[in-house]
Amino acid sequence: MGGSPTAEIVRRALRRGTVVPGFNIPYLPMVEPVVRALRDARSAGLVMVARLEWEKFESRSLEAVAAEYRRHADRRVTRLHLDHVPVIDEDGRAVDYLEILGRAVRAGYESVMVDGSRLPLEENIACTRRAADLAHAAGVPVEAELGAVMGHEAGPLPPYEALFASGRGFTDPGEARRFAAESGADWLSVAIGNIHGAISAATKGLKKVEARLDIAHLERIRRAAGVPLVLHGGTGIRKDCILDAIRHGIAKINVATAIRQPYERALPRGVAAAQDAVYEAMRVVLRGDLEIEGSVDVLDPEEPA
Ligand SMILES: [Zn+2]
Repeated sequence: MGGSPTAEIVRRALRRGTVVPGFNIPYLPMVEPVVRALRDARSAGLVMVARLEWEKFESRSLEAVAAEYRRHADRRVTRLHLDHVPVIDEDGRAVDYLEILGRAVRAGYESVMVDGSRLPLEENIACTRRAADLAHAAGVPVEAELGAVMGHEAGPLPPYEALFASGRGFTDPGEARRFAAESGADWLSVAIGNIHGAISAATKGLKKVEARLDIAHLERIRRAAGVPLVLHGGTGIRKDCILDAIRHGIAKINVATAIRQPYERALPRGVAAAQDAVYEAMRVVLRGDLEIEGSVDVLDPEEPA
């Protein structure tokens, strides 16, 4: 993917029918095996961290992740992304999101996310606009979220099948059209049946529920929004749904649980064993689940669009 900026890489992924995965880093030693697996598979990918991963897990700070990233980064296959900076967090508290985004830009993050999805539409647009103005001034693209991708909040989720059938929380295509036009967001994270992995101490080790995606609904959002779309909660979604979603506008997919749980399970045997577990899980995601081995060639700037 040469020296291309992340915005261009994601645009190319959309045009060429592939996807750029982002991998969450709740534990700093996960950076090394994530980068190594991307390099060995010749797959383009983002190393990323969300605020809750330095608040509730062990990645310490966005600066600590950036420093660890620089020790291992490989520009041929990796870029650094800041995942979820909520305006209102999973515990209902207001967050100084502009301060965090400013720090991220200074620390070298090449794309950032602001999550105003817990706010009413007007406020989500206004907050995303402020985040986009800050990031764009530094040449950094912004991801935003519209709709409710549930799972980070404490407490049990409603039964999945009932949730899917009702379409409750799904991104509204009309709102997506307006949001894309007014918010300044470069990429839009959507809710189409996907859910985040559980993060509470009581539930984070449990097997994630198998999720499906409403592809017809995704297609309506794609036409309305006209920007690359992002799928959060990539672990546990049926493979045929994921590959279909990539054909219908998903150009970035977030993967967290699939590499975090193997790390946590192997950690009693030591950090090296836990890193190996992440590497093996990465191989399965890149080759088996997403089928994107060799994607750096597809994303090559010299390739015709
Ligand atoms: Zn997410």
